[in-house]
Amino acid sequence: MKSSHKPTVIEKAAEALHLIPDLHGEDENGRHEAVRGEHRSCPPPESWDHWVEYDSRSWPGRKSSEYMLVPTSCFNCEAGCGLLAYIDKKDLRIKKFTGNPYHPASRGRNCAKGPATINQIDDTDRILYPMKRVGPRGSGKWERVSWESALDDIASRMRKAIREGRNNEISYHVGRPGHEGFMDWVLKAWGVDGHNSHTNICSSGARFGYAVWQWYDRPSPDHSNAKFILLVSAHLEAGHYFNPHAQRIVEGRMKGARLAVLDPRLSNTASMSDYWMPSYPGSEPAVLLAMAKVIIDEGLYNRDYLENWVNWEQYLEAEYPDRARTFESFIEALREEYQDYTPEFAEQESGVPAGTVREVARQIGEAGERFSTHVWRSASSGNLGGWAVSRTLHFLNVLTGSVGTPGGTAPSAWNKFKPSFHTHPEPQKFWNPLHLPDEYPLAHYEMSFLLPHMLREGKGKLDVYFTRVFNPVWTYPDGFSWIEALEDESKIGLHIALTPTWSETAYFADYVLPMGHSAERHDLVSYETHAGKWIAFRQPVLRVALERLGTPVEFTWQANVGEVWEEDEFWLELSWRIDPDGSLGVRKHFESPYRPGKKITIDEYYRYIFEHTPNLPEAAAAEGLTPLQYMKKFGAFEVEQDVYNVHETPVDVDGADLDGSSRKIYKEGKPVGVQVAGRNCVGFPTPSRKQEFYSQTMIDWKWPEYKVPSYIKSHVHPEKIDRSNNEFALVPTFRLPVLIHSRSGNAKWLAEIAHRNPLWINADDAASMGIENGDLVRVNTDIGFHVNRAWVTESIRPGVVACSHHIGRWRRRQDAEGNRWATNVVSISRPEKGKWKMRVEESIAPYESSDPDSQRIFWSDGGVHQNITFPVHPDPVSGMHCWHQKVRLEKARPEDRYGDVFVDTERSYEVYREWLAMTRPAPGPDGLRRPMWLNRPLRPADETYYIGT
Ligand code: SF4
Repeated sequence: MKSSHKPTVIEKAAEALHLIPDLHGEDENGRHEAVRGEHRSCPPPESWDHWVEYDSRSWPGRKSSEYMLVPTSCFNCEAGCGLLAYIDKKDLRIKKFTGNPYHPASRGRNCAKGPATINQIDDTDRILYPMKRVGPRGSGKWERVSWESALDDIASRMRKAIREGRNNEISYHVGRPGHEGFMDWVLKAWGVDGHNSHTNICSSGARFGYAVWQWYDRPSPDHSNAKFILLVSAHLEAGHYFNPHAQRIVEGRMKGARLAVLDPRLSNTASMSDYWMPSYPGSEPAVLLAMAKVIIDEGLYNRDYLENWVNWEQYLEAEYPDRARTFESFIEALREEYQDYTPEFAEQESGVPAGTVREVARQIGEAGERFSTHVWRSASSGNLGGWAVSRTLHFLNVLTGSVGTPGGTAPSAWNKFKPSFHTHPEPQKFWNPLHLPDEYPLAHYEMSFLLPHMLREGKGKLDVYFTRVFNPVWTYPDGFSWIEALEDESKIGLHIALTPTWSETAYFADYVLPMGHSAERHDLVSYETHAGKWIAFRQPVLRVALERLGTPVEFTWQANVGEVWEEDEFWLELSWRIDPDGSLGVRKHFESPYRPGKKITIDEYYRYIFEHTPNLPEAAAAEGLTPLQYMKKFGAFEVEQDVYNVHETPVDVDGADLDGSSRKIYKEGKPVGVQVAGRNCVGFPTPSRKQEFYSQTMIDWKWPEYKVPSYIKSHVHPEKIDRSNNEFALVPTFRLPVLIHSRSGNAKWLAEIAHRNPLWINADDAASMGIENGDLVRVNTDIGFHVNRAWVTESIRPGVVACSHHIGRWRRRQDAEGNRWATNVVSISRPEKGKWKMRVEESIAPYESSDPDSQRIFWSDGGVHQNITFPVHPDPVSGMHCWHQKVRLEKARPEDRYGDVFVDTERSYEVYREWLAMTRPAPGPDGLRRPMWLNRPLRPADETYYIGT
């Protein structure tokens, strides 16, 4: 396929003279040099043990350095791109990171956060030794302790809790996940329902909208082969799987794909699109349903896919029992169902012109099976009913038959690898109501952001609470309620923070245990970045270097700086100590598969997985390597290419039963497939084995009004906003391309690029309030306020304000110094119960350290901590925290200073109760806590699904 870009004369000449690569020629597969992912500047793997590079800064002199190159995987966002560490052979220090061209998703490329990993490794403020608090929790006093004493103390406390049946008092709360399947395996081995995650403040709104269609809860778009791409977010600069997606969107564009973006903010992505649709926050489903209506009315749908792969017969049977059970009746019913969702209605709700809605819908219909879509956070995580965004977006994929096709959008799990473990612990026999309370039976992930309120209500308590790369005091809404909970030892007995760096949450821990950054730890990574399946090996590069030099170490911490551990080895070691004699049944899972009765080593753990990874042993053997050696050498492996139409995989019907009316295929009483047009296929893991346009689940669980894809008015719908009182919808969710929550802290290059988060406000709105660029504004929320500077711009639609959530990090005077590139020193006071005030006392400033750059800090603005002024907004269906806020703006008062924060946590609790009142609690059918067929993180034994067990 030809590029839509015509090379200029100068480009052609430069290519012919080999001054630049041939960017426009094509290989045998019709792919351009620029999209093949080749990385010509990367040294070939045969030279990775010894690579010589000359220092450009010493030119015209010839100063060289000798490096060993070791692959690993980035940990600064979820995408897990490949990195290549350059280790100076002179002093065995990591000097820099580049991309790993053998990584199938990132293909040698990284965003700015990847190479900035070196800043985190070299961070002069990082934690090097285990620390234990001295004095009251949060008082800022610490003493260094040994790993031995910390492990023994924690393990003995856990052993006691498990022996006493207090398994629900052990909780592991994860921020940035990683190690594919590892923690589920560990927690099941312990027998605790102890998985708590950040997902319900992140992506579970979108996940639920997908899950209710097809069980799979995330999209995996094949952007590079699409004809039309529709994004509900800013994927090119900051989306999920940012770098892998961005390069494939660009590939698609180079081959002629058109791009449309729904976003109230003119993101970089929107600015590169063919259609920027600045929809009012929460109105996206109205726009998407209007597009669906155009596709249905104009006959642009894919009849074959709809007829075969959608549960329309169930819909007709339940809703239109008197009508003929024909596909034509279904289309007629669809027309009636969505007759009110006209483009004009969409315009009224969203502000997107009806003509644009029609035009985009027709192009989607024309793209047909080559229509890729993605929603990442944004609207689905901002609004009450945000899950309807992904549900209605996926409706367009279903209508066009672009589910899992080349250029379409596949279910996530098709493109994600699940490792095999050497033991298979039984599902735990506990259901932790602090994680999945009965009030939220459809909550797609744990209600983690309600933890302080549930502890306050006495729903349970925690004896051993691990936070891992997780910073709720700063990242979550309602951070002062978190501080109140963390300070209370009667609610949280022991808080262990596993973290490479100090954070607002680590300051309220009992133990702070230093863990390695991406190049200092093991991890298995696999994500649905494109239509393939891959694994990447995050590995401690200095340990690998020592091994290559013939001086292996026993534990990763021995190769790392100070006494920085890695988590895998920490969990293995801790688990062994929980059950030293094996009487709890825990120890057996942590014994070596190769040396019976002995404690498993980290190499053995990964050796087993890689030996059981399809196609890897063969690929390794071809290189004369074992599978583990292969992964250590290349850092990644492509398990499967071009994964499409998995639902059509044939089912072996030998010994199977066919249900005559539903055409479902059963084996031993369990559904394993469905017969479609005479073919026996695996289908989808839903009750109908098809795409569920009609959801009996929503009816059974008391939400019949949402039985089909629908529009739910947001809590920031214009009807609820009093513009005459200067109320606005605040969009607080957007990312900056170089930052991500707490993870990208401690990286000086990134802090230098982005260090403030002003309030975006439309020029007309600003003028009507007499606000000028840079003016201080008090942003009043339901529970308090923060004071920020206005950024007056045309890049946000009127009636909406926006603020990025990465910035506004802080530490108090008594706290250990950490991340001084990006933290303000603040004072926090509590003049009366529940009333919290924060004021910036010292902005960012140069400081002395062993890094000369710390004297060169030129910025002083550290931004504003906005999230702490937000109450919790749990969506009553998906459980997602609805991030958008109704705010009232006012010009700053005389006493206000930039960065001021005020919060009333009593009011936070009231708001929590108000949203709780919107729920429709379990039980559902048969006394169930939640539907059996939907996925649940760390799924426990089936019997625990019944209330009263
Ligand atoms: S997109 Fe950037 S931050 Fe995320 S894994 Fe890739 S290089 Fe790292």
